[in-house]
Amino acid sequence: MAETLRAFPRVELIHAPTPLRKLERLSRELNGLEILIKREDLTGLGFGGNKSRKLEYIIPDVIAKKAEVIITYASLQSNWCLQTAAAARKFGLIPLLILFRTHDLPDELDGNLLLDHILGARIRIKDGGPGKFIDEAALEEALDEAVTEVREWGHTPYVAPVGGSVPGGDMDKPLGALAYVDAFLEMHQQAERQGEKPVDYVIHATGSGGTQAGLAVGAKALGQGTRVLGISVIEEAEIFRRDVLSIARDTEKTLGLAPRVEADDILVLDEYIKEGYGIVNRDVAEAVRRMAVLEGIFIDPVYTGKAFVALLDLVNKGYFESTDRIVFLHTGGTPALFPNKSRFTEFLPG
Ligand SMILES: *Cc1c(COP(=O)(O)O)cnc(C)c1O
Repeated sequence: MAETLRAFPRVELIHAPTPLRKLERLSRELNGLEILIKREDLTGLGFGGNKSRKLEYIIPDVIAKKAEVIITYASLQSNWCLQTAAAARKFGLIPLLILFRTHDLPDELDGNLLLDHILGARIRIKDGGPGKFIDEAALEEALDEAVTEVREWGHTPYVAPVGGSVPGGDMDKPLGALAYVDAFLEMHQQAERQGEKPVDYVIHATGSGGTQAGLAVGAKALGQGTRVLGISVIEEAEIFRRDVLSIARDTEKTLGLAPRVEADDILVLDEYIKEGYGIVNRDVAEAVRRMAVLEGIFIDPVYTGKAFVALLDLVNKGYFESTDRIVFLHTGGTPALFPNKSRFTEFLPG
């Protein structure tokens, strides 16, 4: 499998391996459970994050299809859009971002939106429509408009699907998930060097499913019994179980592997979404502070903050065995701390 992965076209965007370290103070506080952190926030592109690892496999597809402009879309403060814009610039491509307003954040230049602006991305801000996230019809219309516009410039567009996860637009293979098969192998080797037993759980935030699908394929292929637990930040667990399984199967096929990932391998919890995607509640603000105070590490309020709330709650509920080795995947997203500043001042007194 590692061989097939290596044969895939890939560009270099990140500093790998990203660090895997024990969270010493947190582990002590949680009665000696071994909790490690894999720093996918330190990939080194832009402000870091899981999307830059995915883009190592996506950019070659853009280049192979002779496009000069990458069009992609997501929410206003999207990490995916920022990382795509940064990767595009590194390869001399023009990023065109369609950003949907989804909750109460203003369109002011802050967080990722400021960084998109500094990168000179072409930015189109739209209303998300009545749907939970992005209304299908509003998306179709915005994409058609963007494609037409790019062709009028005399350029070839490449439409990349949100998160680089579910094949769509001009991406016909689960390229983002491939990167997370690789990340699983990387993490496994690091964990092996650092301790006796294999990792029991990898816990991380799930948003478009590619990260979880790739990790699940890697875990199954290595056969050490590592369970991948996705904490949904947006969609019902049932929908994610179906989508992640489908991306995982597609990933296995792309790698020439037999279909081994089963429905039971896709663990998703959705009870930590709470008020909705991107909405920062008191638990999330406190979890972000707890990580900072214990370990000097900043997590983000939209993804990793919710995953960390889940980790703490699951430990409390006795979900894990006391001998379990758990990896918390820090998938990035820290620029979202800034546009959410009012939530932190509200929930974190003095
Ligand atoms: C996109 C994102 C995720 C989720 O990854 P998916 O592959 O889209 O499920 C998690 N954390 C952060 C910070 C992200 O930006």
